[in-house]
Amino acid sequence: MKNLSGYNRKKIFVTRKLPEAAMKILESKAFDVNVWTKETPPPKKVIIEKVKNVNGLICLLTEKIDEEVINAAGEQLRGIFQVAVGYDNINVDVATKKGIYVTNTPGVLTETTADFAFTLLMATARRIAEADRCVKTGKWKIPWGLMMLLGQDIWGKTIGIIGLGRIGGAVARRAKGMNMKIVYYDVYRNENLEKELGAKYVDLETLLRESDFVTVHVPLMPSTYHLINEERLKMMKKTSCLINTSRGPVIDEKALYKALKEEWIWAAGLDVWENEPTDLNNPLLTLDNITVAPHIASASYATRTKMAVMAVENLIATFEGRIPPNLVNKEVLKK
Ligand code: NAD
Repeated sequence: MKNLSGYNRKKIFVTRKLPEAAMKILESKAFDVNVWTKETPPPKKVIIEKVKNVNGLICLLTEKIDEEVINAAGEQLRGIFQVAVGYDNINVDVATKKGIYVTNTPGVLTETTADFAFTLLMATARRIAEADRCVKTGKWKIPWGLMMLLGQDIWGKTIGIIGLGRIGGAVARRAKGMNMKIVYYDVYRNENLEKELGAKYVDLETLLRESDFVTVHVPLMPSTYHLINEERLKMMKKTSCLINTSRGPVIDEKALYKALKEEWIWAAGLDVWENEPTDLNNPLLTLDNITVAPHIASASYATRTKMAVMAVENLIATFEGRIPPNLVNKEVLKK
């Protein structure tokens, strides 16, 4: 890397207004900060223009920082500082070739995201969204229906965790509190969690066949694209629930629609979608056995602030000539 020290007057483009605490840190360091203030992401042509002239880019997962954008970057661009743990929107290989740091925000969102994954699991099992609609739309006619809105039990059931990393591990701890049997599949074994929680390592097919709840926590990569497809949905129990708070394209939505419609599985809970925002014409939205959210698993006041502050700290470290604490592409240091 070239000499990065001295952050004064460095030009920074921020693709969305950050929480106040993060903006204050940026302002206190006398950067030349330009913020895209609209609610919607900046168009690609704006990002392309900006990367030609700025030294640092703070972005969200909604911005596609692909080969075209990175190749447009001028020599002066030192880092892409993502406000999220997942960074599948960034072409890291191309950034690395150009000597540009890529950073993310791991850890600070783990518990908040796991809280939400477990909330979605429980809401799906106990049909909370349907129950809410039932009361609000006047469909609640019988005072107490013995067979009304029946759901699935959670206590003591088997949870299958695909990707037992930070968030998957935090979900496993919550599952332990619900007396659940924990099985997991990952490309690495996590023997510490096996000992701590009695989690059992199994292959993906066994996980799908044995679990009452399947929850997905892998990053989106070529190897995880449509990991849950028609063939694998057919392996799941008819009474099972599938929960996704990772990234939408990990599940083949067309196959999921068939699985829910034809009742190969009992229900699903989705926070993330193949296209975001999902189209109102998405057939999944016509089904009652799916509980949905607009990609909000890490959305607590405190956590979103921590994520933004972490991205700013990575940026400051870069311009102070230090290695940013959450550097994703460590190979860039060899350049
Ligand atoms: P992590 O790196 O700690 O965990 C990911 C785990 O997946 C690792 O244990 C890894 O070995 C495993 N894995 C990778 N490829 C795999 C494969 N092909 N098969 C099985 N396992 C595989 O990451 P994390 O901090 O737990 O975050 C996980 C993902 O959650 C992020 O990449 C992000 O996409 C998503 N996320 C979503 C939200 C949201 O708002 N919905 C919030 C935070 C994170």
